[in-house]
Amino acid sequence: MNNDYELETHAVRTGQNRTLENEHSEAMFLTSSYVFNSAAQAAARFSGDEPGNIYSRFSNPTVANFEQRLAAMEGGQRCIATASGMAAIFSMVIGLLKTGEHVVASQSIFGTTVVMFDQILRKLGIETTFVPLTDHAAWQDAIQDNTRLLFLETPSNPVTELVDIRALATLAHDHQCLLAVDNCLATPVLQRPFELGADLVIHSATKYLDGQGRCIGGAVIGDETLLNDIFAILRSSGPSMSPFNAWVFLKGLETLSIRMKAHCENALALASWLEQQPQVERVYYPGLPSHPQYELAQQQQLGSGGMLAFDVKGGKDSAWQVIDHCHIFSITANLGDTKSTITHPATTTHGRVPLEQRLQAGIGDGLVRISVGLEAINDLKADLQRGFESL
Ligand SMILES: *Cc1c(COP(=O)(O)O)cnc(C)c1O
Repeated sequence: MNNDYELETHAVRTGQNRTLENEHSEAMFLTSSYVFNSAAQAAARFSGDEPGNIYSRFSNPTVANFEQRLAAMEGGQRCIATASGMAAIFSMVIGLLKTGEHVVASQSIFGTTVVMFDQILRKLGIETTFVPLTDHAAWQDAIQDNTRLLFLETPSNPVTELVDIRALATLAHDHQCLLAVDNCLATPVLQRPFELGADLVIHSATKYLDGQGRCIGGAVIGDETLLNDIFAILRSSGPSMSPFNAWVFLKGLETLSIRMKAHCENALALASWLEQQPQVERVYYPGLPSHPQYELAQQQQLGSGGMLAFDVKGGKDSAWQVIDHCHIFSITANLGDTKSTITHPATTTHGRVPLEQRLQAGIGDGLVRISVGLEAINDLKADLQRGFESL
């Protein structure tokens, strides 16, 4: 495939190898294993002398199609698809780090990612220091002689803080560390971590890449050398992507660009409207000039994304009342769907975070998070308006 193509062309075309049937749409290979023409060919496949499929734990044409397409869209050399976003992060760390090495991670990353670094990897002797996402000095101070990896998400969830990826890539490389960016919320349509110096990009394909809330999946993208070590882990521990899910994600990638633009447009309209509501104390959305990092958002992102948050006056009771008055918004912690979702982070996703730490992260009792879907904007406003009027 031509590497000069732009993202939208890769999204629709890259990675497809038609079979003898000449099918137009991508074929789905629901097969666990592959047949060899002879004993000699089987031996050659297993020894690696002949390239080709053996077993779908580590190679499947539909999964390979997804991997090539997403790698091209991110502008990375190679992609490895995994069973979930968490499997992508776990395989990456286990593939690249060993016991006694150290990670510096933003404290504003996905809750389960915190648990993985803080508990599971710590148990294996890989220690993590958590730092405030926007505090560059804290990142610098946390780096030790044994630090190998810096890990971040930008924009952060739920209060949409940003970090300068290029500055952190420089810091990482000055200390012989790798920088991994979880690009799940921005997607390659809105943010290009490799062009800003990142070494690895992580995805939960479950979110915008599928975009319609159907399948769980993930991916790691990076250069050939790094990904070889991660592939070795996948091959022998098995958190692989199902070919069915890969096929669904392929269809999702084809419309990613137009969906992200529509998500951004709806989210900006809703954020601007929320800022004018008397019941709303503050709105968090990188596309608003009132966002403290508006300038960075304009430089680093090609759109402000589909997620926003706001503080309702009156704390938890008001927040719950607004949520419970919605007819359209789904009350669910999921995000990145064509369906708009609404969440009260303080009592759900961040319910187990100690109070002081939660407030420090900007997650107050009145905070409501919205993943803005593709419904008509006026219907979404009216859905929230009902709750505001009840206060
Ligand atoms: C959901 C999510 C993950 C985890 O992905 P799963 O597919 O649920 O395992 C990781 N990072 C971010 C930013 C997410 O939103």
